[in-house]
Amino acid sequence: MGDYFQTIVDLDAGPDEAAELADRVVAWLVDEGVVLAERTDCVLGQPLGHPPGPNWHRAVAEDDADREPWDGLAVEVGRTVFDGGQGDPEAVTCPRCAATTRLVTETWDTIDDAWAPFREAMEDWDETGEAQVVCPACAESVPLPEWRWADDYFAFAHLGFEFWNWPEFTPEFLTRFSRALDGHRISHVWGKL
Ligand SMILES: [Zn+2]
Repeated sequence: MGDYFQTIVDLDAGPDEAAELADRVVAWLVDEGVVLAERTDCVLGQPLGHPPGPNWHRAVAEDDADREPWDGLAVEVGRTVFDGGQGDPEAVTCPRCAATTRLVTETWDTIDDAWAPFREAMEDWDETGEAQVVCPACAESVPLPEWRWADDYFAFAHLGFEFWNWPEFTPEFLTRFSRALDGHRISHVWGKL
C-alpha cells in the first residue's frame, strides 16, 4: 500500500506573506484540535510535521471518522510546484478562452508537442517565479499559475499544507481553511507515492 497525500494550496499568498499565514493557519488547526502543535517525524518529504490532533475527524466526513490518519501535516513555505505525484495530468484549460488542451492520448501516452511549452514554463517558474505559456487556441500569453489543470493536478504557489494519509477532507473543512487564509483561493491537490 502506498502513501497518499492531499495538499491544500493557497493560490493567492505572495512570497512575503506565506510564512506569517502558515503560522496563523497552524495555530488555527491546533486550536481546533485537528493537528498537534508539537512536531514529530510523521510526514514524508520533510524532517518534521504536525501529527493528527484529538479532533482530526472534524476535517473529514462522518463515514470516515473511524479511519484515523496515521501521519501528519507538512507545511511548505516558499515557491513550490505542487503536483499530484504519480502519472500525468490529462489536460489543461486556458483561463482566458476556456479551450482545453489534452496532454495525454486515450491510452495515457504523453503528447510531447502539447506538453513541451508547459514543461519549459515549469522549469522557468521553479527558477524565477515567472513563466508564461501562449495558449494554442487564443494565442494569449497566460501566466503559468493561472492555467487550470484537470483534477487540480498542478498548483504553482508559495504556501501549501500537505496532509499525509488522511481521509478526504469535506468541502466544509476546505471552506473554513480558505477563510483562515484570509479568503484566499485554494487548490486541493491529491496524490500517491
Ligand atoms: Zn486561450
